[in-house]
Amino acid sequence: MYKTKAYAAASATSPLTATTIPRREPTERDVQIEILFCGICHSDLHSVRNEWSEFLPTTYPIVPGHEIVGRVAKVGSAVTQFKPGDLAAVGCLVDSDGTCLHCKAGLEQFCPNLTLTFNSPDKHLGGVTYGGYSAIMVVDERFVLRVPSNLALAGAAPLLCAGITTYSPMRHWVVTRGKKVGVVGLGGLGHMAVKFAHALGAHVVVFTTSPSKKEDALRLGADEVVVSRHTDEMRKHAGSFDFILDAVSGEHDINAYVNLLGRDGNITLVGAPAKPLGVSAFALIMARRSLSGSNIGGIAETQEMLDFCGAHNITADVEVIPIQKVNEAYDRLLKSEVKYRFSIDMASLKSE
Ligand SMILES: [Zn+2]
Ligand SMILES: [Zn+2]
Repeated sequence: MYKTKAYAAASATSPLTATTIPRREPTERDVQIEILFCGICHSDLHSVRNEWSEFLPTTYPIVPGHEIVGRVAKVGSAVTQFKPGDLAAVGCLVDSDGTCLHCKAGLEQFCPNLTLTFNSPDKHLGGVTYGGYSAIMVVDERFVLRVPSNLALAGAAPLLCAGITTYSPMRHWVVTRGKKVGVVGLGGLGHMAVKFAHALGAHVVVFTTSPSKKEDALRLGADEVVVSRHTDEMRKHAGSFDFILDAVSGEHDINAYVNLLGRDGNITLVGAPAKPLGVSAFALIMARRSLSGSNIGGIAETQEMLDFCGAHNITADVEVIPIQKVNEAYDRLLKSEVKYRFSIDMASLKSE
């Protein structure tokens, strides 16, 4: 065990500040990664402030961060897929049992014994896992991803959560050329969804509450933009969508979107409003529509997503910040004042 630099919060009301945390010496199956960039995901903020205390209470100190890209520093003797100097990425998971039905299906994100990248019991050192707001991390090779060399690394980091969260449901619900796809909400998740749906060849319609986002949505790959408050505009699209990705985490009228689905159309939630949604059963029944949810993706699919991004040159639109600005970035995230993801340049941690 050794110490490495990190940014941590000591309580739900404390800012993130510089500290040191323990990391393990790589075991034979481990990859030690020098972290270069870490994206800021909304769940970092929820966890730091213990806002998910009912189902994922936070253990302090917490080091968040699960959108990680870096360079391999050291590998264990049994590691075969990575060598020092390689680019590497880590997402929301760092371990799972490997034996349950979900793991066997390549869907480690549903494993009952998974280890999350931060705030999850640490099997090696005890305590909890510490995430990517740190200089170094050590991860089992099975949970380390390869990064296509053509991708800009700052923008590649958010692919590890925002990217796979939006890519996976589109693959599951078979978004392809000729399909009409809606994206509700143009934030960190939504802007990735637009890029993926466009690259998959779909006709992409963005729904937004702010007319000011129209130009940006078109630039990102949307074919049409609908201001969701304009009932007439919404009505024009009734019954016409194959798939809608709902990335809104605030309260909103889900039925307005269910009614836009065609027969057998699906709407998938990736945003998580705190209050239950009032869904019209009639709207679902009358056209065999379905409503579902989705949670990140398995390791194999995450690699597929990264390779897809390499082939289509897709990264997140990021604002790069030094770690010293992370608390300010959280405040701006709450006001949606970022286009569309913060990416922390971890070289800034060296000056702490
Ligand atoms: Zn995330
Ligand atoms: Zn499992």
